[in-house]
Amino acid sequence: CGVIGVWNAADAAALTALGLHALQHRGQEAAGIVALSEKGVFNAHRAQGLVGDNFSSAKVIAALPGRTAIGHNRYATTGETALRNVQPLYADFEFGGLAVAHNGNLTNAGVLKRALVRRGCLFQSTTDSEVFVHLIAISLYANVVDRLIDALKQVQGAYSLIALHDGAMIGARDPLGVRPLVLGRLGPAEAGSWVLASETCALDIVGADFVRDVEPGEIVVIDQSGLRSIRPFGRQQSRFCIFEYIYFARPDSIVEGTPVYETRKRIGAELSRESGVEADVIVPVPDSGVPAAMGYAAESGIPFELGIIRNHYVGRTFIEPTDSIRHLGVKLKHSANRPMIEGKRVVLVDDSIVRGTTSRKIVEMVRQAGAKEVHMRISSPPTTNPCFYGIDTPERAKLLAANHDVEEMARIIGADSLAFISLDGLYRALGHAKRDGVSPAYCDACFTGDYAIPLTDLAGPAERT
Ligand code: 5GP
Ligand code: SF4
Ligand code: MG
Repeated sequence: CGVIGVWNAADAAALTALGLHALQHRGQEAAGIVALSEKGVFNAHRAQGLVGDNFSSAKVIAALPGRTAIGHNRYATTGETALRNVQPLYADFEFGGLAVAHNGNLTNAGVLKRALVRRGCLFQSTTDSEVFVHLIAISLYANVVDRLIDALKQVQGAYSLIALHDGAMIGARDPLGVRPLVLGRLGPAEAGSWVLASETCALDIVGADFVRDVEPGEIVVIDQSGLRSIRPFGRQQSRFCIFEYIYFARPDSIVEGTPVYETRKRIGAELSRESGVEADVIVPVPDSGVPAAMGYAAESGIPFELGIIRNHYVGRTFIEPTDSIRHLGVKLKHSANRPMIEGKRVVLVDDSIVRGTTSRKIVEMVRQAGAKEVHMRISSPPTTNPCFYGIDTPERAKLLAANHDVEEMARIIGADSLAFISLDGLYRALGHAKRDGVSPAYCDACFTGDYAIPLTDLAGPAERT
């Protein structure tokens, strides 16, 4: 998911909508904004679908008055697709209104929810995120910030969240900092206008200056007196999601001081050093494979060509081809750029193989376009485990790499050869000598099975939120 909050700026809801637009890649299912008016009234608008389809009308924005607003793009990892699950969540509690926007996934939400329901809490959604609201509401501490800390000490999992109540906007990251969250400033320092967002690309679009990342385990409280930072957890080695670098974050974002685009090119170069192959052309699987393919091509000295063209207008509005016309080989998303492929030895570069559907289709398409050889290179290690921290990977049984070795996978996708970047190669591309087996610098559980945060709900009874 994507989150953004704007504090103390004219047209806060319009800026929030712009930010959500820049964060659209983090969730396309639904979007919402909660704004706090200068009279202290909260207004909300939530809808299924894309930001542009729901927040581009002046009428919608005008109904969200105020100088403060938070927003959320949803990409479901827990809870069904329903309007009641669209965030920011909003509730009235002892101290007034409270809105919460959460990116990440909690791993003990089921256990917490059962206990909360026994105590009489009435859940309105099926998202894991709602436990934050109830834990804050029933906490006995005397102010919102202490209640939030109380709540954060009970939850397990990944969270970057933005909360808004009458007097403050609060940002928080889980102690391992699995999901990103950045802080920016609008206008001069004395204006006291702040922005919190998942990625720097959202700061760029609203014209905010990047100040710094919110740190793992840090809570930032922004109110009339300015910004203060609280660290309720002891310091430990952070475990930022390595897959944000590989695929999830937008390439123009800067994460932990590192530009994502540069990182992807370095991963591609490392991949080329590790598993180079004689070929005539390097072709990315667009869009996600492009930066890695550029790095691969530059390192190998083999020309880079757009041998596959992506149709950017594939959307929910276009009907899937029926069985009767499927034999035409209708490919909605990708098409072969034949002159760049015909008669050539092609290296395809993509960021990941999950179920293998994309790779299989693309390899077949490139062969049909006349490729002499097709070699697949992947800029992540094999995805052998599901993610429980906020990326929607399917269960283990559906992960191609969980059930087949690389040779079998090559045969299944129909490639002449297949190679993935090694785990150490990936860490090298990120500026480390290798993966530190004792205290790794990133979460890489989907590649290693090393889950740094306990999977409490999985271990318990089957019920999940
Ligand atoms: P597969 O087709 O093997 O199931 O998935 C691999 C493709 O999906 C790759 O092209 C990759 O860019 C893309 N991909 C990887 N992770 C995600 C994800 O979390 N969400 C979406 N929408 N695509 C993903
Ligand atoms: Fe990221 Fe993979 Fe860890 Fe999930 S399991 S947080 S996708 S590195
Ligand atoms: Mg892709």
